[in-house]
Amino acid sequence: MKGYAGKLLRVNLSEGKVSKEDISDSMKIDFWGGRGFAVKLLWDEVKNVDPLSEYNKLIFSTGPLSGQALPSSGKMVVASKSPLTGGYGDGNIGTMASVHLRKAGYDILVVEGKSKKACYLFIEDGQVKIIDALELWGKNTFECQDLLEKRHGRNSGILLIGSAGENQIRISTVMSQRGRAGGRPGMGAVMGSKNLKAVVIKGTQNISNYDDARLKELGKKGYEEIKGKESYEFWMKQGTMQAFEWCNENSCLPTYNFREGVFEFSKEMDGYALEKLHVARKGCPMCNMQCGHVIKDSADQQAELDYENVGMLGPNIGLRSLPQVALLNRMADEWGLDTISLGSSIGFLMEASERGLISEKIGWGDFEAAQRLVVDIGRGEGLGKLVSRGTQKASEILGKGSQGWAMHVKGLEISAYNCHACPGMALSFGTSPIGASHKDAWIIAWEISTDRFSYSEEKVKKLIEFQRIRGGFFESATVCRLPWVEVSFGIHWYPEYLEAVTGNRMGWEDFYKIGDRIYNLIRAYWNREVPQFGRMWDYPPDRWFEDPLSQGKMKGAKLDRGKYDQMLSWYYDLRGWDKNGIPTQETLNHLGLNEVSKEIIG
Ligand code: SF4
Repeated sequence: MKGYAGKLLRVNLSEGKVSKEDISDSMKIDFWGGRGFAVKLLWDEVKNVDPLSEYNKLIFSTGPLSGQALPSSGKMVVASKSPLTGGYGDGNIGTMASVHLRKAGYDILVVEGKSKKACYLFIEDGQVKIIDALELWGKNTFECQDLLEKRHGRNSGILLIGSAGENQIRISTVMSQRGRAGGRPGMGAVMGSKNLKAVVIKGTQNISNYDDARLKELGKKGYEEIKGKESYEFWMKQGTMQAFEWCNENSCLPTYNFREGVFEFSKEMDGYALEKLHVARKGCPMCNMQCGHVIKDSADQQAELDYENVGMLGPNIGLRSLPQVALLNRMADEWGLDTISLGSSIGFLMEASERGLISEKIGWGDFEAAQRLVVDIGRGEGLGKLVSRGTQKASEILGKGSQGWAMHVKGLEISAYNCHACPGMALSFGTSPIGASHKDAWIIAWEISTDRFSYSEEKVKKLIEFQRIRGGFFESATVCRLPWVEVSFGIHWYPEYLEAVTGNRMGWEDFYKIGDRIYNLIRAYWNREVPQFGRMWDYPPDRWFEDPLSQGKMKGAKLDRGKYDQMLSWYYDLRGWDKNGIPTQETLNHLGLNEVSKEIIG
């Protein structure tokens, strides 16, 4: 089929063995790319293993639109069995590695086994080398990126980990290009467990598309449409930080470990405050609406900000200075720590200190303590050891009711939206396929602009529609969803792009079915891998049901557990899952997953 490089590259680090496999047409048709390829491979090949053992596999996977001359296409998915949650884990990352992997002749890279000593992979078209990385081990991600660029050229695609990944900290990610990150549920730790410091890729071949001339014309029109959008100018000024003021106004800013939804110092932290400090912009390859805003941090070095890291390392820990948040964010990027889970972990420790559950005194907004904690978490030492396996595990150790305010779902920390008064977004976190990620269904803007307080079946249907588009389509075609989400770029372009790439004309019903197949396989994976997996895994923390907001216009708001339960039941019905959230035989068979059905149902 056109539009794919057509090969999977497999590297076994235990044996030093490299092999290349054809990707079958049925794999391309049924699972498409990115997340779809990843879950199919994990289902087939990674069963009941310790995620940090040599038996886990790390998958770097692109889709048919990745790296093409199309808006915001420089993405790839990093996936593995998660050491943080024990279930399916993935994340997308913007990186030149996605462009180069395909140009080198591969859609997928699978890394398996474990190297005896620190190493990195160098892939240059057909050549693959496993190279000693002793002198890179211990370097932060910025230093390591510099060294590898010096050695292999600035235009190389580089994926790497920091010391947090080396130390197998379970909230570590894979990094690229000094600030791009992907794989929140501990993909950095999986890479570290294999003694793999980096992957460097250089490719020179072109993907063979069905109609290159048409693709070029469509891409050009797409870039032009984005630039001509009414909201484009404002987006370029604030990027995702435009959400900060909006979240504060709507009482959904994560504040003091998600206790509140408004922050008294929000004016010092919002998109307008950012505009005054802005010095440069950064982003992913192939993108003309780059969303990383660079400012000078409190140590006078350049550092990047976006809404998620400002929300979680700002109000969520009571910090009121953008330059200080930027410094924490730069440290996290250097260590290769996920900023969302990091902010949640620090907020959790601050609350534990306030409640006297730990002896250390760490006040809200204590910047020096926050800096020390980043280092401790990256090393897995001191208090950092307590949260290095995530807030769920930390609360199990600490006890005394802390489970109710450990802000995670399925073990993955909640991203920067407080849902005391947003039941639809709470359900989105509850049912996200990797744990509490906002990426699959950012329903909150639609919810607040429609019937915010309802727990309706209509809202559940909308949520599933978002999951199909965002978590199914975008993660598997493997392009960034933000042009569509943030500047209303026409979604009608995507079937046209795919037709020009593959030659197949497909509609949204086809895309939805592929998305459903992927979602059901992910759900089956959780069910197979996590003991006693079921309905209780789909609830947000007690805090949102039991501790009402005490500030702002939503004062007194909290979620209603009975109504949430009803929404969850509708969700299962609409997805074709049983009362415990397990896909039924009929649903799996309808999606062509008969073998899966035999394995989990019998
Ligand atoms: S919009 Fe942001 S996340 Fe999306 S491709 Fe562009 S820079 Fe990357």
